[in-house]
Amino acid sequence: MTLFDTHVHLTDERFDADRQAVIDNFEAEQILGVIEAATDEADSAAAVKLACANARVYAAVGVHPHAAKDVSKDYVNILGRLADSQKVVAIGEIGLDYHYDFSPRDVQQAVFKAQIALAKDLKLPIIIHSREATKDMMDILAAFAPLSGVVHCFSGSKETALESIKLGLHVSFTGSLTFDNARKVQEAFIALPMDRVMAETDGPYLAPVPVRGKRNEPKYVRHVIEKMAALRNMDADEVAKINIENAKALFGVLGE
Ligand SMILES: [Zn+2]
Repeated sequence: MTLFDTHVHLTDERFDADRQAVIDNFEAEQILGVIEAATDEADSAAAVKLACANARVYAAVGVHPHAAKDVSKDYVNILGRLADSQKVVAIGEIGLDYHYDFSPRDVQQAVFKAQIALAKDLKLPIIIHSREATKDMMDILAAFAPLSGVVHCFSGSKETALESIKLGLHVSFTGSLTFDNARKVQEAFIALPMDRVMAETDGPYLAPVPVRGKRNEPKYVRHVIEKMAALRNMDADEVAKINIENAKALFGVLGE
């Protein structure tokens, strides 16, 4: 099975001991590539550096809602300059997180909107983080539609998933699709057309069953794909192929 992990955080300190070894294993594990999603300005620079040093790593640059309160005055220009790199394929991860509320909500919204505008300017897709913020999220997205991008680590309802694809977006699923209490997310997945869904790990977080609790890493995207295949009565290799085609179409990765 050939794999593509559409969202991972390899710059996380949980990869400090073996980051390069994990990346060097991609070929043997049939991982064609990964998208390294950034969380703040410094991490955006680190993501670009990692991508430039490793053919199979692509980067997204952006400020996560948790870090929205800490942006520098010039952050939009800083991200824009980083996005000049050929290996930058998206602006992300960006969005709203009302579960933790690490940044005030008005600040989260302002930083999110500024980065959507940047992405539209640069004609790059966005990678969206949305947690317990559905109403404000959908209002903001609708105001910017049509959009190109993906709602990452989808945790909402079937209705929100279908609304997202109407705005032009893809919807991506992590290991949480494999959990016992995942019925709502599974129903959302089943309701979506296959050309709009993607698989990701969000490593080091959210390791899927049967490796739940371990450090998550790109090779475990296989378990998300296998779950997708089981839920739709499809062949897992076919789902893996569709995941790669969708990642190519949205992010322009993997060349010709
Ligand atoms: Zn993430």
